[in-house]
Amino acid sequence: MNTKQIVTRMAPSPTGRFHVGGIRTAFYNYAFARQHGGKFILRIEDTDKERNRDEYEQEIYEVFKWVGMEYDEVYRQSENIHRHQEILKQLLESGDVYEAEEANDGNGKVIRFKNPNKEITFHDEILGEISVDTTDLGDFVVARNIESPLYHLAVVVDDHDEGVTHVIRAQEHVANTPRQILLHEALGFETPTYAHVPFILGPDGKKKLSKRDTNVAAMDYKQHGYLPEALLNFLSFIGWNPGTEQEVFSKDQLVQVFSLEQVQKGPGGFNLDKLSWLNKQWLNTLSKQEFRDYIDPLFKELQDMPIYSEDIMVKITPIIRERTNVLSDVQEMIVNGELDYYFVNPKIDSEKVIWKKGTVESTIIHLQKVFDIITDYSGDWNKDSLKEVIFPYAEEAGKGDVLWPLRFSLSGRDKSPDPFTLLEVLGKEVVLERISNNIESLKKATA
Ligand code: GLU
Repeated sequence: MNTKQIVTRMAPSPTGRFHVGGIRTAFYNYAFARQHGGKFILRIEDTDKERNRDEYEQEIYEVFKWVGMEYDEVYRQSENIHRHQEILKQLLESGDVYEAEEANDGNGKVIRFKNPNKEITFHDEILGEISVDTTDLGDFVVARNIESPLYHLAVVVDDHDEGVTHVIRAQEHVANTPRQILLHEALGFETPTYAHVPFILGPDGKKKLSKRDTNVAAMDYKQHGYLPEALLNFLSFIGWNPGTEQEVFSKDQLVQVFSLEQVQKGPGGFNLDKLSWLNKQWLNTLSKQEFRDYIDPLFKELQDMPIYSEDIMVKITPIIRERTNVLSDVQEMIVNGELDYYFVNPKIDSEKVIWKKGTVESTIIHLQKVFDIITDYSGDWNKDSLKEVIFPYAEEAGKGDVLWPLRFSLSGRDKSPDPFTLLEVLGKEVVLERISNNIESLKKATA
């Protein structure tokens, strides 16, 4: 029995914004380590001095924090440079690497690995058995010079030193694996187990997900108001599923059911509708207060509107909530002015107030009648009770002829909640004011 502690790592390079797909790779590492009681390491591969940026490194930490992937250890590869140099020296002494011309143009030297030109076979936990004749790789470069070891060497040394047992990483690294195994062997290191995670395809199902399809920076998803639970849930299911009907899983549940064997070999699709649906499922788990906290920042500007009140906010929150999959939906409602009528008397287009075959005169009569009913009404101010007193008249005079003008007088929009909901939200005073304003304008239109 192998009792060695499982150690996984995510090794992003801070040379660009952390990719949303990187969350999936990182999470598979995280889940695999957690379910085996192992260790999960974050290693910042910051050896490319020209392309590294501190803000990219900071963003990596932010992403991990946001989605709740706690790591047990964190390293910066550059801090291990002396160790990489020492190993390089050792390889030079043993003759496994040698100094050579970079190219045949006499332009500078590099350090190359003396390839034993053998067949390397390894078992990939996702892709299965892979055999590569390394002759084709030639004597590949492992350092610019004795001071500057490059990627392959640094990764091999760090994985070894940090005790990494399982390298779970993006499929683009499959081609690097034989080189890295050769280095492990030359150094007498135990080769880790590899698992190469398939690509994520864009919505066309053909090309790799790219900036042209959608946002690819992980933090953009936070910015757009996706919940981290939903994003994690969504990403985990790209190219993997637990083989049951259940689709909504928390981080801890995912950790329980995840298995590397069930990750598919082929690429998985990135379906924004699915993400949106999952976000809705996760929004449904928020309490009233949590949902308010989620949308409130967007309402800052609306607070200056004439009849903004906490009371109205409380009443419209469930209405908004029903229509929201993602925070950007709320943003859209606000930008499109779809919520304005809750906070300010709308401008009414007199022609639109009239229902189908109705006339200005008949519309005035119906509105006046509803105005009178509401004026006399002294019961509970809620939509059901209001419906009880208004509906009989609507049924008698024609539902559309009565309810359309009523709703339109209150919202001024083709689409809005039903009139009884609007009555309840707006309150008696505002309602009567809007109906009578509208009657006045209709009268003016006929004059
Ligand atoms: N630093 C590499 C990258 O960001 C990952 C190397 C590895 O996972 O072995 O693509």
